[in-house]
Parts: sequence; C-alpha cells; structure tokens
Amino acid sequence: ESVIVAIDGPSGTGKSSTSKAVAAKLGLSYLDTGAQYRAITWWMISNGVDVTDADAVASAAGKPVIVSGTDPSRPTITVDGADASGPIRTEEVTSKVSAVSAVPEVRALITELQRTIARTAEQGIVVEGRDIGTTVLPDADLKIFLTASPEARAARRSGELKGADVRATQEALVKRDAADSSRKTSPLAKAGDAVEVDTTELTLDQVIECVVTLVEE
Ligand code: C5P
Repeated sequence: ESVIVAIDGPSGTGKSSTSKAVAAKLGLSYLDTGAQYRAITWWMISNGVDVTDADAVASAAGKPVIVSGTDPSRPTITVDGADASGPIRTEEVTSKVSAVSAVPEVRALITELQRTIARTAEQGIVVEGRDIGTTVLPDADLKIFLTASPEARAARRSGELKGADVRATQEALVKRDAADSSRKTSPLAKAGDAVEVDTTELTLDQVIECVVTLVEE
C-alpha cells in the first residue's frame, strides 16, 4: 500500500534534506511544497504583480501553471513550462514568499495541487511544508514536526548560502517564520498527532535514521 509522510517545521530545520533522503531510501516520491509557493511568488514578481496587494495576488493566482517533478534524486519545478529551480531561490523571492503564501486564494489552489500529487503517487510520497499535517494531508500515515534552535537554523542556512552573514540570516528566518506562523489561513503549525523531532543536536544522518525508523514502525 502507499504510505504518505508529512514533514513540517520552520525553515532551517533540515526539512528538505531529510525529506529527500527519506523518500529516496524508501522508494517514495517527494514533494517540496515550499518550492510551489516560491514558484508562484516568482511568477507574481516577473509579471509585475504587487505582492503586498492581496487582491491583486488573489486575482492573478490562477494564471501560472506550476508543475512539480517528484523524483527525490532530481526534484524539478516549472512555471508555464520554464525551469524555475534557480530563480525561486533568490533573496527577493525568499523575502516576498510569505506575503504571497498568506493569500487564501493562493493557498486554496496550491493545496489542491498538492492533494492531487499525493493522491496519484503510486508508491507513496514524502511531502514537506508548513501545513501538510494540519491542513493539506490530515490523514497522512506519519506526521513529523522538525524543530531546531534559531541559532542552529541560521547557521545551517548560512552554510547553504556560502558565506552569508549568520546574524542577518537569523533575522530573516525569524521574520519569515513569524509571518508564516501568524497568518490566518493554515499557518505553520504542529499537528496534534505529529511526532516532534528537535534536530538541534542531531546530525542529518541521525534525523534521517529517526524518520525512516518511524515510517517502518
Ligand atoms: O520551505 P521553504 O522555505 O522553501 O518555503 C518557502 C515559503 O513558502 C515559506 O516561508 C512559507 O511562506 C511558504 N510555505 C507555506 N506552506 C507550505 C510550504 C511553504 O506557506 N506548506
């Protein structure tokens, strides 16, 4: 039977690395839902939509066609057929994505897309995000909520961004998590039945091992 694993948590907790590795080890598909919110944000910016204008974002939300590839060893994302994997990681997109993802029309569309992908993943899927266990896939077989201290999260993110200022990174992360946690529609939150894993003192391999064990139980 196909297993559905939801992995949520704030940024810098190792969600993506963990989710991809767990999916690869278990032969499951993988969906990065943050990439979808980033893709729609990139489209808004590229098409001159003011991301601080929720009505403008809402009425444009249905226009871009976002397609996610779900192979954990080679995740892809396209917008209207164009590869968006590079542009969605810019600082501009990162700083604007919380505003776009707070718009209910955006969430409704992306959530529907995510449910369709999860439903059609024949071998099962690992879905990572902020509201997967609470809202997108409340019937998931396993829900994980990853946490880590703000210092650990900023240090990991700065490492990824090669030489970025740790302090500035920490401020940006805290700000984004606060926005994601306080929005009215499906905020970043731990589901009541999620297993919380604090990754602060764990290596990536230990986190992967822990999640694989929980899936196999
Ligand atoms: O995971 P990542 O940092 O790429 O996510 C980018 C942004 O997308 C988050 O800061 C959040 O605003 C939004 N997001 C969301 N719901 C999800 C996944 C991501 O609102 N399930």
